[in-house]
Amino acid sequence: MQRQIFTEEHDAFRETVRTFLDKEVLPHYEQWEKDGIVSREVWRAAGRQGLLGLAVPEEYGGGGTTDYRYSAVLAEEFTRADAPGLALGLHNDIVGPYLTGLATDEQKRRWLPGFCSGETVTAIAMTEPGAGSDLQGIRTTAEDKGDHWLLNGSKTFISNGILADLVVVVAKTTPEGGAKGLSLIVVERGAEGFERGRNLDKIGQKSQDTAELFFNDVRVPKENLLGERDGAFIHLMTNLAQERLGIAVAGIAAAEHLLEITTRYVKEREAFGRPLSKLQHIRFEIAEMATECAVTRTFVDRCVVDHSDGGLDAVHASMAKWWATELQKRVADRCLQLHGGYGYMAEYPVARAFTDGRIQTIYGGTTEIMKEIIGRSLLA
Ligand SMILES: Cc1cc2nc3c(=O)[nH]c(=O)nc-3n(C[C@H](O)[C@H](O)[C@H](O)COP(=O)(O)OP(=O)(O)OC[C@H]3O[C@@H](n4cnc5c(N)ncnc54)[C@H](O)[C@@H]3O)c2cc1C
Repeated sequence: MQRQIFTEEHDAFRETVRTFLDKEVLPHYEQWEKDGIVSREVWRAAGRQGLLGLAVPEEYGGGGTTDYRYSAVLAEEFTRADAPGLALGLHNDIVGPYLTGLATDEQKRRWLPGFCSGETVTAIAMTEPGAGSDLQGIRTTAEDKGDHWLLNGSKTFISNGILADLVVVVAKTTPEGGAKGLSLIVVERGAEGFERGRNLDKIGQKSQDTAELFFNDVRVPKENLLGERDGAFIHLMTNLAQERLGIAVAGIAAAEHLLEITTRYVKEREAFGRPLSKLQHIRFEIAEMATECAVTRTFVDRCVVDHSDGGLDAVHASMAKWWATELQKRVADRCLQLHGGYGYMAEYPVARAFTDGRIQTIYGGTTEIMKEIIGRSLLA
């Protein structure tokens, strides 16, 4: 089916992203996978190419567009290239809205130019060893000490954790307040008492630096509070829809890409004297996956357009997230099977897509949590 949601401008932007991937990312990717981290230089290259801060106002060096379809293009192309290590989506679409939507003018002047140039890599730190799905379990505290916040606690599984120069930390500012006692505190590189732990050894997305962060009596300036004091929960709920849509966009793009390479493979690979594609079972496998992808694509594209128009709600974002990522997981497993033993070899794209994609049903809210959100909205 012909996709209807993009204009010539989006197509031109897609070409720019492809050129950037070919020139600045793919030649180095194997090395970054070995290193467990991408280079700082590629972030600056992304900044020069105009791929950072798409939604940031132009006066701060951003793209000045609220059209989410540009972000969708970026997510699709990075997924097709299987290059999740350079987490531009996290920076632009997950951390970005907190800075553009909540920062004061003074904070914007301080943080946004570096955000757009690639000098300032960002992260968001919600998860703790004892609090993932249930953010009410957060134990990191930010005590009001008059002229500063005193931050104590630890975070884990933080994407961009090693490279990040600016981390939006969710911390308790009113200990007895539960979800209504959380605030967003921005911690900058070099703050005394802010330490990074291990670059975690994951089963996939090896070049994405996912790390533990520790805060020991970190004195954070008062002016680094982002948004309302005790207002983090509302801020998180507002922005999580975009985070979940971005993961869904990557999910369906990954499934389509896997299907494409597997369709090619079964036409070329022979068994019992003819191509695998001549076997009815193989044709049914491909037919079923193609149908599921086409149906999912229609729904996710509709969500992308709704979000660009400002109308995507948390429930539909949750539907898109769990459905598209569970589809990605099923398709990755079936495509690997259709590659036989070669599918288990790390040098085959299907193998890396299988391990890189496995996290998709977990981060940004697990499939189970997505179903809770949807179920609660229907049965309240
Ligand atoms: C590679 C990677 C990158 C990440 N990046 C970030 C990041 O940048 N910033 C950040 O803050 N976090 C990040 N995370 C953390 C991620 O968001 C959490 O791992 C995720 O939300 C799940 O939390 P948990 O791991 O504590 O699992 P738990 O909450 O302990 O869940 C364990 C299992 O129980 C299920 N479960 C929990 N509650 C319920 C319920 N009410 N009903 C039914 N089932 C339930 C879950 O679905 C899951 O299957 C990242 C994680 C990984 C692995």
